[in-house]
Amino acid sequence: MLKLLNVSKEYITEDENILALRDINLDLESSGFVSIVGPSGCGKTTLLNMLGGLDHPTNGDLYFNNQNTKSYTDSDWDTYRNQKIGFVFQHYYLIPHLNIIQNIALPLSIAGYDQKSALEKAKDILITVGLKDKLYKKPNQLSGGQQQRASIARALVNNPKIILADEPIGSLDHESSLEIMELLKNISLDRLVVMVTHNMKLASDYSNQIITIDSGMIKDRKLNLPVKSKDLKPEINKNSAKMSFSTSFKLSFMNLMKRKLRTILTSLAASIGVIGITLVLAVAFGFNRFVEVRKTETLNAFPIQVDRLSLVVPLFDESYRPNLDLFPDTEIAYPRNIQYVFQTINTITPEYFQYVEKMNPAIYEHIHYNYKIQSNFVIENSGSIVNPGSVIKEIDVSEAYLSENFEVIKGRMMQLESFEAIITLDRYNRLSKDIAESLGFNGDDPISFDDLLGLKLKWIPNDVMYTLDGANYIKNSVSNVYGSALAIDIEIVGIVRIQEKFNIDYLRTGIFYSTHLAKHIMGDSKNSEIVVAQISSNINVIDNTALTQSTKDTALRNLGYGTYPLAYVFYSKTFSDKDLIMDYLKAYNDTVSINQAIEPLDLAGIGLATMRTAIDSVTIILIVFSGIALLISNLMIGIMTYTSVIERTKEIGILRSVGARKKDIGNIFYSETLMIGILSGTLGILISYLLIPFLNMILKTVTTIENLAYLFFPYAIILVIINILLTSISGIIPASIASNKDPILCLRNE
Ligand code: ADP
Ligand code: MG
Repeated sequence: MLKLLNVSKEYITEDENILALRDINLDLESSGFVSIVGPSGCGKTTLLNMLGGLDHPTNGDLYFNNQNTKSYTDSDWDTYRNQKIGFVFQHYYLIPHLNIIQNIALPLSIAGYDQKSALEKAKDILITVGLKDKLYKKPNQLSGGQQQRASIARALVNNPKIILADEPIGSLDHESSLEIMELLKNISLDRLVVMVTHNMKLASDYSNQIITIDSGMIKDRKLNLPVKSKDLKPEINKNSAKMSFSTSFKLSFMNLMKRKLRTILTSLAASIGVIGITLVLAVAFGFNRFVEVRKTETLNAFPIQVDRLSLVVPLFDESYRPNLDLFPDTEIAYPRNIQYVFQTINTITPEYFQYVEKMNPAIYEHIHYNYKIQSNFVIENSGSIVNPGSVIKEIDVSEAYLSENFEVIKGRMMQLESFEAIITLDRYNRLSKDIAESLGFNGDDPISFDDLLGLKLKWIPNDVMYTLDGANYIKNSVSNVYGSALAIDIEIVGIVRIQEKFNIDYLRTGIFYSTHLAKHIMGDSKNSEIVVAQISSNINVIDNTALTQSTKDTALRNLGYGTYPLAYVFYSKTFSDKDLIMDYLKAYNDTVSINQAIEPLDLAGIGLATMRTAIDSVTIILIVFSGIALLISNLMIGIMTYTSVIERTKEIGILRSVGARKKDIGNIFYSETLMIGILSGTLGILISYLLIPFLNMILKTVTTIENLAYLFFPYAIILVIINILLTSISGIIPASIASNKDPILCLRNE
């Protein structure tokens, strides 16, 4: 059945070439027990490996069933080892992390048997070798003799024609040796058993033939006991050896399970990169979501403003803490001195107005012009008539702005298209003390909302307010004009306050009237006697002082007439439009000298946009860092798999000897990295989910935004997949190293 013709084997090493076998000619029958004896290093193992297809001759030919194996492909050799040959080794070479029955079923799995029938067959064969009660034990729980019996069972399980045993009793005591010899002898009744041994006594007691080797040559060949052959079983023709991916997965899974702590620690370390990326993405995603949801709100809440006295923000420093509750529920206003900070001072010119009017209408939704005029108001407060002076102003924001920013705490919101006014309070329900006094209150006592809404406000036209007396106009007393039929009632419809979610107060406290009224006042004032007189004179028509162009402009505005707006509010539909408006307004400064520059102010620019750029740049930095962490963790997984390859060299040899293909070996380690990848990715995502609430607590103190970081679930899945892809890349090298290992070197490796 097996025939060697002029076979020699030369090992070429760095320092010498060893001729391990020299011109061997040997013919072996299809059954019987053949012993090979000879001194150490004479070439016995080499000869056995040659017969078993683990190694191939340098010269000469091996015939199997009269077929020259020269024509065998790698896959033919794999099938040959899996189907025709069973190997038994001195040190049993059972795979330590599989139990006995799994070890024995392994060649069957490689041969493509399904799990269930493989285990059944393995069980049957283990019963015949007398290991019925050791099926689920790990190899190290068995004695040497039992392990050797298990390894013989593994050699037999595919019902091969040939059993090759390399010093199978070399490590056993006498009694166990006898049992094993008995077993091999029995086996040899219907197949060929070739055994290497040092025990001459047992060799001659049991074998049919003894071959003596020395220095790579056959010295002697002696027929011993006659061959008693049984009827040979018909050969089962199986397909070529093919291990399923699930078997390689199972093998690596068992291996990982054996080293749980290391597996978990590696996965944890490897998950750091995933955690980093996940958290960064969660913040970036969460922030974009925040911006999207709040976009219109934000755009309306924070328009671009251009003002003479740009923005008015009450101070909120430590030294200034009113002894009042924030956002109180009580219907009481508190007159207090409120300190404001004026941010920028712009000199708005008629040229600026022209420039603004030339802005592309497509980029803004609405521009609110405020001419900053003064006009004549009279108030009746609990029966007494007072002149409120200049504290009553036009509202310079849109209706959308009002509803987005303010909450009505009494009454209702004013409608900008009617003659109405509202009273604004700040977050402590404060009202400027000077305003309270101008409205006829004493300026110290708290004022009930009912008293505020009970104020009767009237606007008086210039022609009613002023009377020409000789060359000058004089102002009539408020009590005289209050009853005029031409006076217009302005209803104070509500009291409003900035919403709690905003941390900047924009409007000063006070009384604000509608845009509609402002237009009416300007239209009426323009044609009033006093304004017409003032327009045509460079002398003040009230006090006869000489006027420059600028003081004349102010004088006219104080009479309710302005030729160009002094404050602008720009509303846009999108952030990019808003950017375009900003760009356009800033470009104005290129056309004028520095001291005439006009700075548009974007409140969102202070809050949201700066935060956005900050988050964007931090995101990039963090992604780079986490990316590095991810690469390092994958490198680690690669190294860990490589360590595993080194540790499992013997297993590689065993698997190859029972017929596993190179590819199967690669798959085992590849699936190991894959599992680590799945584990570390999943762990990373889970840990991230656990960390996000803490991250959000930190983010809230920095940004004041609740639940900013948010991990979109499909992204989590994608991240796990990316991690698996990366780890599988890092598994390629160790897997290919493993699959290219020479099986005989693996087996020799002690
Ligand atoms: P035995 O099994 O009879 O003790 P071996 O067949 O293992 O002897 O070895 C025969 C000779 O070939 C020895 O000199 C050994 O050092 C050498 N040899 C075996 N395998 C290799 C190898 N892979 N590379 C180099 N030399 C080897
Ligand atoms: Mg040897």
